[in-house]
Amino acid sequence: MIKGNNSVTLMTSYPDIIAQCQIAEHAGRLSHDSVSKMTPESYGDFLNHLIKLGHTSVLEHITISFLIETSISASREIIRHRHCSFTEKSTRYCDFSEEIKVVYDAEEFGVEILENVKDFIALQYKAGKSFGLPNDTIREMLPLMTGTKLEMTTNLREWAYFIKLRETKAAHPVVRDIARQIKSSLQEIVPWVFEKETKNEVY
Ligand SMILES: Cc1cc2nc3c(=O)[nH]c(=O)nc-3n(C[C@H](O)[C@H](O)[C@H](O)COP(=O)(O)OP(=O)(O)OC[C@H]3O[C@@H](n4cnc5c(N)ncnc54)[C@H](O)[C@@H]3O)c2cc1C
Repeated sequence: MIKGNNSVTLMTSYPDIIAQCQIAEHAGRLSHDSVSKMTPESYGDFLNHLIKLGHTSVLEHITISFLIETSISASREIIRHRHCSFTEKSTRYCDFSEEIKVVYDAEEFGVEILENVKDFIALQYKAGKSFGLPNDTIREMLPLMTGTKLEMTTNLREWAYFIKLRETKAAHPVVRDIARQIKSSLQEIVPWVFEKETKNEVY
């Protein structure tokens, strides 16, 4: 079970995403010379058709951002995805006294030990602050469980790929939880990307 400290917020507005889907449809229709057939609602069926054909580069015209609140251990896995853009809360410029916490609650991870370690490190970090040491220096003692915030932006093709890699059982439970939250958010707006018969052809 994942505690509430792991969360995902869609930053791109619904109308913006729909407008981008229409731009992608227009781009896709250029290659079929069928722009005249566009209607305000035709983008879903058309883009789904392109996915079935394997013409998935068209999804790169749709750029979507999410705010992710998680642990540094999860963020360092997420930022390995090279086609995405990231901005993360700085351990140099910000005070992390209140961010040393256990993000997840799973018995197999020995939460009790983590709670004790967290309390000990938080005490040392705060002591460093009270001695006037800069964030730049005392950040060295921050554990991977420290809470962080990052904004992640990429195109729809890469989101589908990220979800494919990170929603499986092989992924870490915290990262898996993030991928599933992102997927469920996207499913509300662009469900045609995740239709079963096309799922394996997005990438
Ligand atoms: C379950 C799991 C376990 C993992 N375990 C480890 C681990 O133990 N140690 C570790 O270091 N990492 C690990 N990783 C991270 C993994 O190796 C990748 O760095 C990460 O998943 C990003 O995947 P990617 O490179 O395919 O994606 P992206 O960086 O998003 O790239 C997308 C795609 O673009 C193409 N691409 C991007 N850059 C290049 C390039 N330079 N050359 C050719 N093609 C390119 C590839 O087709 C790639 O799949 C793990 C990932 C998962 C999902």
